[in-house]
Amino acid sequence: MSISVSSQNETSKLERLGAHSHIKGIGLNDNLEPKESSDGMVGQVKARRAAGVILRMIQGGKIAGRSILMAGPPSTGKTAIAMAMSQTLGSGTPFVSLSASEVYSLEMSKTEALLQALRKSIGVRIKEETEIIEGEVVEVQIDRSITGGNKQGKLTIRTTDMETVYDLGTKMIDALTKEKVLAGDVVTIDKSMGKVTKLGRSFTRARDYDAMGADTRFVQCPQGEIQKRKELVHTVSLHDIDVINSRTQGFLALFAGDTGEIKPEVREQINTKVSEWREEGKAEISPGVLFVDEVHMLDIECFSFFNRALEDELAPIVIMASNRGITRIRGTNYRSPHGIPVDYLDRMLIISTQTYSHEEVKEILHIRCQEEDVDMAPSALDYLASIGRETSLRYALLLISSSNQIALKRKSATIEDSDIKRVYDLFLDQSRSVKYLEEYEKNYVAETEWPATEDAA
Ligand code: ATP
Repeated sequence: MSISVSSQNETSKLERLGAHSHIKGIGLNDNLEPKESSDGMVGQVKARRAAGVILRMIQGGKIAGRSILMAGPPSTGKTAIAMAMSQTLGSGTPFVSLSASEVYSLEMSKTEALLQALRKSIGVRIKEETEIIEGEVVEVQIDRSITGGNKQGKLTIRTTDMETVYDLGTKMIDALTKEKVLAGDVVTIDKSMGKVTKLGRSFTRARDYDAMGADTRFVQCPQGEIQKRKELVHTVSLHDIDVINSRTQGFLALFAGDTGEIKPEVREQINTKVSEWREEGKAEISPGVLFVDEVHMLDIECFSFFNRALEDELAPIVIMASNRGITRIRGTNYRSPHGIPVDYLDRMLIISTQTYSHEEVKEILHIRCQEEDVDMAPSALDYLASIGRETSLRYALLLISSSNQIALKRKSATIEDSDIKRVYDLFLDQSRSVKYLEEYEKNYVAETEWPATEDAA
């Protein structure tokens, strides 16, 4: 079984990526003490500290198969904290983000979609030994008769005490060509990575290459050891391995993202293979994080799937986010907190997020202004923070770029109170929009009857 996919952190799929670009980390010190404002994160101290504890547990490999709920009103930083956690974990630990409604829009059953998401969140660190060769190039021979994508060739390398011939593949030939390697060069070559570094020209050939000019460095041909061993670690996800080995799909499906359903037998084989690798010390499992936003959109079947899936030895941490209060569990007529069945809720660690103070809103807006490279007068920032407190933080954040446009139109590089006032009048926030609708309802086309849906309460 061969794997050729390099490590990949799935955070690129996070929703509203631009909206969180100012978040650089969780802003905790080594003792998990949060600073009021650090790494782009402001306030929400208790939730950040709790997230820090979870991070420690993930990094220490102490938990897997746990479910965490981030609960709080809209725009209180639930997604922002999840983003920050993903940044702290780094690219070696998978972080997969999913909006619960996506489960229903993919061309596969919802449990298959969830299973794929879970397996994308399990990293497999595969260790591989590679050789680094260092010596003087005696000859590079490329077989020019080969057509098509594959190239073949030979490389002869000499040190003071031996001369070795290596077979070359396409990757190495491309690397040697790119570096313009000629006989007489002293190089280090990492064959499995296809990396070539030219150190200079061989000292012994100095006389032959006098004509090359003063900037040509001459180096002593390496003495003694020519091969160093280096351990390389690739991180792939269990899902990547499933796709590569699923006969109907092949690895190209990984790039197209169109993987379809994967047969249970394939997954069983992969699980067996991976546990063999673990026993042989060739691989380690690194359980990552699956972040599920808008969790009230999951139905009762999805929750019962999670209940079972999290018992598995190969299970990631599942972080769910909800801004709903008591609401109906989709697929039933029961109501429960956040629309999550109580037995599932019982197995969750719950982190709650709170609404922000005026000063906190102001600080977040200030950080966003810096991120968007926008200059806002202190009084305008204060005014926008008041709007943010009255309406929502997200609405206030949206007014930054639009008020900047208004300021630029009047040829000012600084946003003033009047610009904020202008965009506040131009764009309705959610509650004013509702009020407007109520007032002018009769001017709109009305649905006289709700369309019947299977899932209607
Ligand atoms: P919803 O329930 O509506 O999905 P949410 O709780 O996930 O909301 P976010 O999307 O995280 O809210 O936050 C809204 C915006 O405010 C984002 O741009 C986010 O980066 C920013 N933000 C929220 N909290 C903080 C914070 N504590 N520090 C810095 N920026 C924040």
